[in-house]
Order: sequence, then structure tokens, then C-alpha cells
Amino acid sequence: MDVSIVIPLYNEKDSLKELTERVISQLKLLKKKYEIIFIDDGSRDGSFDILLELKKQYTEIRIIRFRKNFGKSAALSEGFKRANGEMVITMDADLQDDPAEIPGFIKKLESGLDLVSGWKKKRHDPISKTVPSKLFNLATRILTGIKIHDFNCGIKAYRKAVIKAIPVYGELHRYLPVLAHWQGFKVGEIIVQHHARKFGKTKFGFRRFLSGFFDLLTVLFITRYGQKPLHLFGFVGLLSMFLGFSISLYLTILWFQGHGIGQRPLLFLGVLLVIVGVQSFTLGFIGEMLTSTRDESFECSIQDEIN
Ligand code: UDP
Ligand code: MG
Repeated sequence: MDVSIVIPLYNEKDSLKELTERVISQLKLLKKKYEIIFIDDGSRDGSFDILLELKKQYTEIRIIRFRKNFGKSAALSEGFKRANGEMVITMDADLQDDPAEIPGFIKKLESGLDLVSGWKKKRHDPISKTVPSKLFNLATRILTGIKIHDFNCGIKAYRKAVIKAIPVYGELHRYLPVLAHWQGFKVGEIIVQHHARKFGKTKFGFRRFLSGFFDLLTVLFITRYGQKPLHLFGFVGLLSMFLGFSISLYLTILWFQGHGIGQRPLLFLGVLLVIVGVQSFTLGFIGEMLTSTRDESFECSIQDEIN
């Protein structure tokens, strides 16, 4: 198998037929062996029946159906587990990503990159989405040092080795390039066409910003300290303990000199810093114990699998 197209979808019945036809017409031109894996993330609008119909017509289609809505990251993760292609291309099911980009992504992978991310340079989304997204991309670029512009683009291409190596859970799909880069893979981008949503509506509301922020923290944490949490918590803990200890020492000296210290706010600060420091330190230790036994796999409940 040369190419696997992985498409997560949640209530996208209106676009599936057109999407499939356009993807297949691109793949046929490439003369490569391919499969299209749809992951129905618990749709309630009849998307699954449409997929079954399409599968009758196109045998290259595989369908995974989740028992309920587990989220885009879970869907991608499951698609990655099952993809057989040497190259794996993910795209959204809502036709915002253009299937005509597929050959460009493949070319770029063949030129030596391990992960190619799309860059929606000209976006067709409401401003409530584009402005926060710009800020997020800027913050991510600065904090991670990866020089790409659009971390959350739905269309991305991966070499098989990349998807087998990175865990996707929570809503970490936004940060796959970061995780891949951290594992030492070569990450690049190409500019893609972006289209306004034709049918249905976006599946991520305002909550996307909050989850995006938390996931950025998670990604920063796991890429820097995931294997050595004590290095972060231990540092913070020691610093806090040191400050607390210095304050207490100062007050102790004053006390021996005959000053009353019982009413001084500084006393409480000193005690607080020592306690917080010890806690942070022990948290780091617990983290270290967990990293040595951790299992990063994520299991979903799958209703059907049609190959
Ligand atoms: N999606 C999914 N599960 C979810 C939410 C979204 O599989 O819980 C799919 C959705 O059907 C689409 C893709 O993820 O194919 C991107 O979602 P959407 O277009 O709503 O995101 P946006 O373009 O607004 O960022
Ligand atoms: Mg979309």
C-alpha cells in the first residue's frame, strides 16, 4: 500500500459523496496503491449509511465507526493505527481542504520530509476563528521553535514512521507537528487552498480556544519534561524551599536578637514557601515514578469495522 487517506468525520453527511469522488479522482491520477479510511466519530446524521453506500461503489474505502463521539484526536489516532500506507494523508471531511492538494503533499514527502503540514495562507473562516488562531500559531511557533505557520490545518501528510511513533490523545491533534519535531522528524509545510464550509457547521465552538491553550501547555510539558518531571517540579520546589528557608532563617536570627516575630506577615510567607516547595518536589518524584510505568495508548470503543 502506498497511500492511506485518513478522514475523521462527525456529522458530515452532505459532503461525503463529493469528497470521496474528488479524492479518488486525484489518487487515480497518481497511479499508486491507495486506501481511504473514514473514521465516523459517532455521527448521528446518517453519515455512516452514506459511507456504506459509497463503499459498495469504491472498494478502496474502509470505515471505522466509533460508538459515540470521541473527538477528532481519537479518530485520527484510530485511523493512524489502521493505516497501511507508506504515506498517510489526513484531511477534514467538510471539503474545506481541497483534494487537489494531495499530489503536492506526496511530492513534498518524496522530497525527503517526514511530515508536511498545510498552511491556509488565505483562510475562509469567520474572524472569530482566524484572529485567535493567528495568536495561537504565533505562541506555538515561539514556544516550540518550529517554523511553520498553521499548526491546526486539517490536511497534513506523514510518513508511516511518524504516525507509528507519536501518541495522539486529548486534543493533541493540533500539535502533531510539534510532537513529530520533538521526536526528531523533519517537518515542513506547503501553502494550500482553503474553502469556506459548504455544508453543516463547525464542530468546535468557543471551547476550542481553551482546549487549545491547555493542550499547548501539555505539549510543552511532555516534550520538555514528560520524561523527567522532577526537572521542572524539583526546580520549582527547591527554589521555593530555598526562599522559604532564607526567610525563616532571617526571622530566627531576629528572634534570637530579642525581636518579636509572631505578628510578622513574613513569617507566614516563609512557612508557606517551605510547604509549597516540599509539595512541588514530591509531586516531581511521583511524576518520575509514573513515567517509568506509563502506557500511552488510548483505547476507543469501536462499533464496526468494515474493510
Ligand atoms: N471532527 C471529528 N470529531 C469531532 C469534531 C470534528 O471527527 O468531534 C471532524 C469533522 O467532521 C471535520 C474535522 O474533524 O471533518 C474538522 O472539524 P471542523 O471542520 O468542525 O473544524 P474547523 O474546520 O472548524 O476547525
Ligand atoms: Mg472545517
